[in-house]
Amino acid sequence: MSKLKNPKPDTLITQSGRNPAANFGIVNPPVYHASTILHGTVAELEEADRTPFDGVRYGRRGTPTTFALEDAMRDLESGYRTIALPSGLAAITASLMAFVQAGDHILMVDTAYAPTRFFCDKVLKGFGVETTYYDPMIGGAIKDLMRPETKVVFTESPGSVTFEVQDIPAIAEEAHKLGAVVLCDNTWATPYYFKPLAHGADVSINAATKYIVGHADCMMGLVTCTEEAYMPVRRATALLGHGVGPDDCYLALRGLRTLAVRLPRHHESALKVATWLSERPEVANVLHPALDNCPGHDVFKRDFGGSTGLFAVELKPDYSKEQLTRMLDGMELLSMGYSWGGYESLILPQNPSNIRTATQWQDRGPLLRIHIGLEDVSDILSDLEAGLDRLKG
Ligand SMILES: *Cc1c(COP(=O)(O)O)cnc(C)c1O
Repeated sequence: MSKLKNPKPDTLITQSGRNPAANFGIVNPPVYHASTILHGTVAELEEADRTPFDGVRYGRRGTPTTFALEDAMRDLESGYRTIALPSGLAAITASLMAFVQAGDHILMVDTAYAPTRFFCDKVLKGFGVETTYYDPMIGGAIKDLMRPETKVVFTESPGSVTFEVQDIPAIAEEAHKLGAVVLCDNTWATPYYFKPLAHGADVSINAATKYIVGHADCMMGLVTCTEEAYMPVRRATALLGHGVGPDDCYLALRGLRTLAVRLPRHHESALKVATWLSERPEVANVLHPALDNCPGHDVFKRDFGGSTGLFAVELKPDYSKEQLTRMLDGMELLSMGYSWGGYESLILPQNPSNIRTATQWQDRGPLLRIHIGLEDVSDILSDLEAGLDRLKG
């Protein structure tokens, strides 16, 4: 870490989590492959057993490559410590399991990433943990849904597929009064544009697979905790047997180094495309947190430093499946794929109606989720214009 007094985020991203002096002056940390860690003396062995989560103890718990990534992310999040997990979903499930047991209750945002819902409905339910879904716009009224056994309030802002922005400070204030912890899936914004812990959350979860890795070439989850939330999450991660490969940690750290130049470009290009789309006759609605028709746009302006490349567009309801298929099958630049956050542009038909229970998504036009990558924005617009033309006829 740099010796500057208050390094800004762009500086932290380039300086944190590396120590060239300990490594022949080489800029990046080496990739350590390890399972067995040798302890020279009984005293050293006993010291390792006393502090299982500090230092190099066991391959699964990480090597200096893992710790370099965890330290850099911790500094960017302004958290106590960060834990690396093998995927974003593993980071979500381990964080939930850290805080609930049979008889407990979870308040889950209705617009959560769909597999987060499925984990609650298909796994935690079987273990005797109940989940209630709530409207992402609930704010401080979350208090009316809190029960004595509510241990977790889970947030994801903006929401998956429909992009509602949550008032996390208001939710956290009520949750904390009744002793629940607040978890935040912050994958869309990354800590570069929104800092969950500074806005009241106890745990910030990132599918680093997306913008942190940034090149569509490895899976990773990063969970950053306050001091109080750290040990439960670390223990759950260890007991569930999660460990991440050192090559993947290296890729994630390499991706992180350029986050501060990639995200502003995603921000700018996506906003241009979203604005262009909102003026097209085929479009009913553009769902993008930085547009003022987005639910929670005021909170977005108050709490977020910028927007990223992912948003959705709702077409007018007049188009058939065949017309939509013709549009999508003919795209040249925007490809169909689920995992976003790489340098490339994506487009994907989505139907939120079957992944909502506390809110409604019905009688709406076809929805397309779009990720704007780092291509020249005029080429992206040409591809979309030709695509919208294929809707006709
Ligand atoms: C992709 C995604 C995840 C899951 O991440 P993986 O690394 O693919 O498991 C979790 N939350 C959100 C919001 C996501 O977009």
